[in-house]
Amino acid sequence: MRQKIRKAMLITAFLLFPVTIWYFSPYLIIEAMSKHIMNGSFIVFVSMFILSMFLGRVWCGYLCPAGGLQECVAMCNVKAAKGGWRNKIKFVIWILWIIGIIVTFILGKNDVTIDPFFQTDHGISIASINNYIIYYGVLLILVIPSMIHGKRSSCHYICWMAPFMIIGSSIGRFLHLPQLHIEAEKEKCISCGKCSRACPMGLDVKEMVAKGENAKCTECIQCGACVDECPKDVLKYKMFWR
Ligand code: SF4
Ligand code: SF4
Repeated sequence: MRQKIRKAMLITAFLLFPVTIWYFSPYLIIEAMSKHIMNGSFIVFVSMFILSMFLGRVWCGYLCPAGGLQECVAMCNVKAAKGGWRNKIKFVIWILWIIGIIVTFILGKNDVTIDPFFQTDHGISIASINNYIIYYGVLLILVIPSMIHGKRSSCHYICWMAPFMIIGSSIGRFLHLPQLHIEAEKEKCISCGKCSRACPMGLDVKEMVAKGENAKCTECIQCGACVDECPKDVLKYKMFWR
């Protein structure tokens, strides 16, 4: 039941993407910074960073429109994305982008103001036909990696929002803040592999259970699919660190 609700939430988020896309825009935050405006995407990215200290990457698992799109695409390619160095690409993109934001702010003019609806039409992102060209371009950027490389490849490789949550949740764990995460009782595991097959991120959950690494995995989006699939109740959501 939980996974049905989760998927319904993700698909709803994707259907609302034409309304919300500007609030996740990596470009508009730079344009806004040149005018010293804290825009919608600035507020969303800061909120993601703070919330991830307590909720990990729950946003990715339950509410991200791009995640919803990619879980639909997984019907075409169910293989697990290769991890390793490819998972670092998003950090290179992120660091260059953050430098761009900071430099733009330093060179910018005006007093600092807040405008959550910057460049929207009454809060709606895609309000003209021309903007659909950008919208479908973004969809293609998200869909193509997942079509070629497998489950949620765009989350693994290129997502500009994931580093906020990976850094936020790592800081939360370092500080031992209460934080939603997955823990395993590995002695109960029968190595059936159902958790790995269920993982929408294509993670080798069975291997993580064997190594006791579930709680530390920064690619885990706390979706709970492995928790719900395990026949031996090995995996559980926890808020407090052992
Ligand atoms: S390891 Fe479990 S909770 Fe984490 S992404 Fe995979 S299925 Fe979801
Ligand atoms: S589904 Fe449960 S029992 Fe099966 S491999 Fe995963 S953790 Fe072990």
